[in-house]
Amino acid sequence: MNDRRIRRIVIVGGGTAGWMTAAALGQALQGNCRIDLVESDRIGTIGVGEATIPPIKLFNQRLGIDENAFITATQGTFKLGIEFVDWSRKGHRYFHPFGQFGAEFDKVPLHHYWLRERTRGDATPLEDYALAWMAARAGKFMTPSKDPRQVLSTFDYAYQFDAGLYATFLRRYAEQHNVRRTEGRVTSVQLREDGFIDRVALESGEHLEGDLFIDCSGFRGLLIEGALHAGYEDWRHWLPCDRAVAVQCEHGEAFVPYTRSTAHAAGWQWRIPLQHRVGNGHVYCSHYISDDEAAATLMDHLEAPALTEPRLLRFTTGRRRRFWHRNCVAIGLSAGFLEPLESTSIHLIQSAVTRLLALFPDRDFDPYTTAEFNRLTGQEYERVRDFLILHYCANQREEPMWRHVARMDIPQPLAYKLAHFRGHGRLVAENHELFQNPNWLAVLVGQEVWPERYDPLVDLRSEVDAPQILAGLRDVIGQAVDAMPTQREYIDRYCRAQ
Ligand code: FAD
Repeated sequence: MNDRRIRRIVIVGGGTAGWMTAAALGQALQGNCRIDLVESDRIGTIGVGEATIPPIKLFNQRLGIDENAFITATQGTFKLGIEFVDWSRKGHRYFHPFGQFGAEFDKVPLHHYWLRERTRGDATPLEDYALAWMAARAGKFMTPSKDPRQVLSTFDYAYQFDAGLYATFLRRYAEQHNVRRTEGRVTSVQLREDGFIDRVALESGEHLEGDLFIDCSGFRGLLIEGALHAGYEDWRHWLPCDRAVAVQCEHGEAFVPYTRSTAHAAGWQWRIPLQHRVGNGHVYCSHYISDDEAAATLMDHLEAPALTEPRLLRFTTGRRRRFWHRNCVAIGLSAGFLEPLESTSIHLIQSAVTRLLALFPDRDFDPYTTAEFNRLTGQEYERVRDFLILHYCANQREEPMWRHVARMDIPQPLAYKLAHFRGHGRLVAENHELFQNPNWLAVLVGQEVWPERYDPLVDLRSEVDAPQILAGLRDVIGQAVDAMPTQREYIDRYCRAQ
């Protein structure tokens, strides 16, 4: 038995990050380690963060959470992708679907055949080959087939949910898995002589001691920055939006299974439809627009009466220099922030918790373990950052913010990916990247980055009757979508009778 094992974990913060971490650690450690979570009702949580990406399903599955019960408890809806309106230029729209385009029918990826047919005058949009988009557009939803021969296996999905209800749901789960919750405000953090955290002190006079501390205190980074000064890398020169104003409204449009992002003069607006309401927010750059103007833009573009007052949020895009420092791991907003353009923050929480469990320390805190956690987490943040920058740097809009981001220097790994695509339409995402080739393809084509050539192999494979195969695919996708239930029917059938 290793007597250096971790005996007590203290999680500071009970937002989405705190409760996701508590639920996952509670389940994994099976009562063999004391886990305390402290949160302050007075400080509250950020309260936004309602759209996700497909890996979240895995997080819930690992906890053994029933999907339909989860959708019911969180007023959730299903998400097949994101529609981007006015991003490349005003009047233009595209869809980033979850899943692939078409089905594999040759060694050469489908999009090269599609590019060739385009040069021959076929104007079919690429997204017409994505089952996720065709279903989303029709308001349809069902879970994908597990049979890889079926076209219904070619799409994926995520969720949209009420962040407050999700935290409550996870809290119940975590408390059933040996997590003890304390309500109260942390007023100071006491360090040991070696600089590691010893305990946190609460306003009530109580102390919480621990071997391992998880900082889920949100933007303030109470432990990782306030006590340990881990440092912050500011990325606003690449992603200049630094504020958001958020508001909830009634449903005014159809009950669609996707998120919408609409570009405005100095930022963009999200629309996240839940069962009981719609979440909206305007993310903007304060250098180009005032808070009042940003709020007015948001309110002018609501589809139905607001249910809440607009709420202002300030942020600095970037990442903590060290996510794990000494005996403290930052998870959630305390670790960094990337604007919610591709709904990645909750995923970054999920992957940090998964990585912490994969690299779980003992009380010796091997520096190689910490270094590996920081290396992998940093790489993940940078890759997401580059994917977000792509949405901005390839645009033809005329307003000053959009001209600025179209002209700025971009990170080298993104420049490399763009050069490959511009040359021969090639996609070079590595296997373990969060956003895979189909995701890059959707946004590259969506932002109207056109390759000079398609794969030369296409013209050497004369036996492949691409026009006929592509038309056949469209037919099969159309028939499959016709047979799907609407999202509302699906939820009524499976998620209401709990
Ligand atoms: P918070 O929610 O801020 O929670 C911090 C916790 O720490 C609270 O419980 C608070 O009480 C506690 N705390 C702080 N100080 C103390 C103290 N001194 N003592 C005791 N407790 C304390 N993510 C997505 O995945 N999808 C989205 O669509 C999305 N949209 C977003 C839109 C905006 C505008 C913003 C700003 C974020 C968005 N996010 C989104 C991110 C998402 O909201 C966060 O990742 C998520 O909510 C996690 O936040 P958190 O738990 O780290 O912090």
